[in-house]
Amino acid sequence: MTTTRFAPSPTGHLHVGNLRTALFNYLIARQMDGTFVLRIDDTDPVRSKPKYVDSIKRDLEWLGLYWDQIEFQSNRLEQYAQTAEKLRDMGKLYECFESSLELDLKRKKQLNMGKPPVYDRSSLTLSKKEKDSLRVESNGYWRFMLDQSRIDWADGILGETSIDVASVSDPVLIRGDGQVLYTLASICDDTDMGVSYVVRGSDHVTNTATQIQIIQALSGNVPKFAHHSLLVGSKGEGLSKRLGSLALGDMREAGLQPMALLSHLAKLGSSEPVELMGSLDEIILGFDLTKFGASPTKFDQMDLAPLTMKYLQGLSASDIIADISALGVPPEKAEDFWNIVRMNISTLKDLSAWWDLMEKGAEPKIDDQDREFVLKAVSLLPPGQFDANTWKTWTQNVTEVTGRSGKNLYMPLRQALTGMSHGPDMGHLLPFLKNIKIKNKP
Ligand code: GLU
Repeated sequence: MTTTRFAPSPTGHLHVGNLRTALFNYLIARQMDGTFVLRIDDTDPVRSKPKYVDSIKRDLEWLGLYWDQIEFQSNRLEQYAQTAEKLRDMGKLYECFESSLELDLKRKKQLNMGKPPVYDRSSLTLSKKEKDSLRVESNGYWRFMLDQSRIDWADGILGETSIDVASVSDPVLIRGDGQVLYTLASICDDTDMGVSYVVRGSDHVTNTATQIQIIQALSGNVPKFAHHSLLVGSKGEGLSKRLGSLALGDMREAGLQPMALLSHLAKLGSSEPVELMGSLDEIILGFDLTKFGASPTKFDQMDLAPLTMKYLQGLSASDIIADISALGVPPEKAEDFWNIVRMNISTLKDLSAWWDLMEKGAEPKIDDQDREFVLKAVSLLPPGQFDANTWKTWTQNVTEVTGRSGKNLYMPLRQALTGMSHGPDMGHLLPFLKNIKIKNKP
């Protein structure tokens, strides 16, 4: 049974880099008919906020990435304490007292001497008496004693991976104030929740080595791991959580479509071309983790615009009837309205501008040299309701009277009626134009 998890910390809004992790784990779970767990890594009581939990859920729901199970680390502190106790009993945890300043100095010294900045385990030499007196100053924190061997695993993306643990500092699992840190909480959850496949960013490769050792020390089942490359901006710069424009909520606000985003991310950075998919099921079927490469992957939000457009153009009015009705389009006009405008929108947000044009009319755009022509033409508009033939018969009539034809005829009329130089077929649009703002006076 496959179980995967997406484990965001609720300390900010999800961004596109988080989505990559969420999506891969979701797709693997669905491909294997397994379980997808949403795990909220909220062990940090200061930085974790309920509003971010809501925002994470909302983003995933918007994308259709529904989870089968949700877990909060803050509900599992008792389990973590028990696991820590077990490790302590096994002699795998040791107490340390160096301040971050002292550790910094040590690291600098090591680097100056050309050595890797690995914690030197000097706390191990402290006597009970020394520890007791240090504890008066401040509580000790607890590190896991790594076995200084190599750790190898068959990574789902990186292939055979080997980390020399001697080059890694013993990880701190419990802070001086008793707060359990991510490494311990995460392995505890992965083991208890039967997580069998962990896909996460390549910034976690070293964590994986240490986590494998801790899981082994606890005789737990080591999941399979895969580390995807990190997304970088179009100029190669790192994408950080702080880059608000890449927050999923902002993409939603900008009118980008979930299917565009999901189709793009399910292939970006793989050897397969990005193409627009019709549904999550299609994405699930076509997803192949082994096709992804290890080098940083460029993400450009601009790539989502054409995919969004293509997706929208493939929809029928009934697919987005809620959006159309919300504008005030009467049900009997919804289909015609959609067919007229759908090739002329980038996102659904553009719909309202077209409906406004139809209902309220536009400020005419008339070049000086066309003014007389336009006024003449407008005076020839037939009275009463316009229909599907009005544009054709009217423009034929205008040609007869003014002698204008082709672009010289059509463009000034389009600009005068819509205020724009581009847009839907005028023959289709004209019957919808309720308010033509050109006065029949020079
Ligand atoms: N909360 C961690 C993060 O967001 C989870 C990492 C993991 O997948 O284990 O980086």
